[in-house]
Amino acid sequence: MIELRTPAEIEAMRPAGRFVAETLATLRDETKVGTNLLAIDRRTHELIRRAGAESCYIDYHPSFGASAFGKVICTSVNDAVLHGLPHDYALRDGDLVSLDLAVSIDGWVADSAISFVVGTPREEDLALIDTTERALAAAIQVAVVGNRIGDISSAIAQVAHGAGYSINTDFGGHGVGRVMHGDPHVANDGKPGRGFPLRAGLVVALEPWFLETTDELVTDPDGWTLRSADGSRGAHSEHTVAITEAGPIVLTDRSFLGVD
Ligand code: MG
Repeated sequence: MIELRTPAEIEAMRPAGRFVAETLATLRDETKVGTNLLAIDRRTHELIRRAGAESCYIDYHPSFGASAFGKVICTSVNDAVLHGLPHDYALRDGDLVSLDLAVSIDGWVADSAISFVVGTPREEDLALIDTTERALAAAIQVAVVGNRIGDISSAIAQVAHGAGYSINTDFGGHGVGRVMHGDPHVANDGKPGRGFPLRAGLVVALEPWFLETTDELVTDPDGWTLRSADGSRGAHSEHTVAITEAGPIVLTDRSFLGVD
């Protein structure tokens, strides 16, 4: 079921959005060569506790998961791109890191993801990250009343294809509200003018993610971490966006921090 939020409810979602934005900026700043993925999880836990927020991940146990997630942030490194379960690994020079964080504050969820490189970057990784960011910006630009879900999907796909990446549509964007994953599904490829009409009050997480040379994923033995089937690297950019009469509001926008 697709739920529409009132302007007051969208306002009530802002604290969660702001917290997720600030936390991802902080974590990106603190994550260096040598940082352990478990330390990133512990640090996130501390920030969540201090803010009185609630993790959407720790007890998360969907049908595809082997068990409850048990951590508060997804850390996906290099050929891992989604749902990376933090484990005992110290980041190495040139690692491509994706952090995906969803929390709720006062019962409202915000969900956002960033990718970056620690240490010396490879050009190909920067291009991949840049493409997910441009695809996200293109998606937000068409997240306006009167368009349809397919317009968002198509905007993402055009950027990806323009940069030579193929697209996996198994995992994509989703409605966000009282829970992390709601309707509608927002695939990262689709036909313009098709799908659910975008109405004022629709709040969605938009999340382009691409792999360098494949669109196939494999699941790690941990039951969560999704990696490219060919070992090529992946990147992921996500924002929670409210569609309003006045245009899209990026609830997890980090620009107010002056860092993006
Ligand atoms: Mg997310």
